[in-house]
Amino acid sequence: MTTRVRFAPSPTGYLHVGGLRTALYNWLFARKHGGVFILRIEDTDQSRQVEGAVDSLLSMLDWAGLKIDEGPGLGGDYGPYVQSERLEIYQQHAEQLLAGGQAYYCFCSTERLEQLRERQKKMGINVRYDRHCRTISSDEAEKRAAGEPHVVRLAIPEAGRITFKDIIRKKVAFEWQTVDDQVLIKGDGFPTYHLANVVDDHLMEITHVIRGEEWLPSMPKHLYLYQSFGWEPPTFAHLPLLLNPDRSKLSKRQGHVAVEDYRDQGYLPEAMVNFVALLGWHEQGNREVFTLAELIEAFEIGRVQKGGAIFNTEKLDWINGQHIRALPAEQFRAAIAPHLDNAWDVTDSMAAAIQTKVNLLSDARDQLAFFFQDPVVYDPDAKAALSDAMSRGILSTLLTNLDSAKNFSGKGFLDMVKSIGEEFSLKGRELWHPIRAAITGRLAGPDIVTIVDEFGLEKCRHRVRAALDL
Ligand code: GLU
Repeated sequence: MTTRVRFAPSPTGYLHVGGLRTALYNWLFARKHGGVFILRIEDTDQSRQVEGAVDSLLSMLDWAGLKIDEGPGLGGDYGPYVQSERLEIYQQHAEQLLAGGQAYYCFCSTERLEQLRERQKKMGINVRYDRHCRTISSDEAEKRAAGEPHVVRLAIPEAGRITFKDIIRKKVAFEWQTVDDQVLIKGDGFPTYHLANVVDDHLMEITHVIRGEEWLPSMPKHLYLYQSFGWEPPTFAHLPLLLNPDRSKLSKRQGHVAVEDYRDQGYLPEAMVNFVALLGWHEQGNREVFTLAELIEAFEIGRVQKGGAIFNTEKLDWINGQHIRALPAEQFRAAIAPHLDNAWDVTDSMAAAIQTKVNLLSDARDQLAFFFQDPVVYDPDAKAALSDAMSRGILSTLLTNLDSAKNFSGKGFLDMVKSIGEEFSLKGRELWHPIRAAITGRLAGPDIVTIVDEFGLEKCRHRVRAALDL
């Protein structure tokens, strides 16, 4: 049997890192088992729709390199299945359950349900429907449904328990007593998530449902739906929660969880995917840097942990740095381009000089700025390093040397500075800080030989003179 998995987001906002992880695990699982990965937009809750969410979702999956294997659209460029275009299918299935007695019409008004909820809260018991309409005969209910507003509810068994085996959580059990008579069709005729999700997973022949842990409590309802329809349920894997380093739940409110934000801040898609893969899964050997191809090879759903996965931004930055180092020079230059000033003419050697220094593509701007600023902008540390007599002595000697320099090069400059160091009995920072400060306005930065080669004699002279004039 072909492995078939789906990513089934509701278009209620931007794709966030948790969603990307769910999509990625599904996609990796499909790739690993020669299976099919589909995208299904679960948009039956019309009140929660966010304009533009689907487009943003598609563009982020594309950015991450997670291609869809099947769906409406042309070969190689498939689109998602969309639930709001399949409403009749869910209606028919609800009718099937009504006819079989596994679902019933409920005519309770919003006011009644509100009062019920209040009463239950006061009594300190679980808030759930009291099954008031479950006893109405099906003939009567059928008649009333023709004229009265209603919903359709699932008639959950009243006692006993249900168990199932989750790939990650192993055996899980639920008491039926704790399960509410879930609404399947709402007053507006739209199905709820539960009905549409189960019906589609069956019709789309999904073999493995891989999704966030927040859906675990829905399992008894889903399993009862499978049972009522007489369908074999797929295999389930519920992924651990994502946590902040203080172990609080990583929520959208804490900002910066939209994948788009990460892209805009200068994270590479391959780094993002690598990092997200490690949120709840790790290889036996604890390797931490993976390409997408290596992830397909290494990923094992059975090794996903149960406990919450900590979202550690420092680790993300480190992984991003590793992927930045691995880029061919041209790709690195192209990747930083959107983060730089259009007027900057960045050469290959400038880009190469900072490639080992940045962890975020957006850092490149700050790292390269001194190449283009004229006059040079000194940061406070650099300014301080230029102010004492010793520094001035070093710089004026350097200027004299530069004035008489022939066949100037970065390498020649290095030798020049070394001999000044001998003259002054200085080396290391004491020698180099004033020189770097004069030439770059900073105390740290890329290799000085590269910088000097890039600048040439005149510009170096000019900058040393300017520092002396401070
Ligand atoms: N539409 C649900 C969501 O937004 C899908 C959950 C599932 O995968 O079953 O997460």
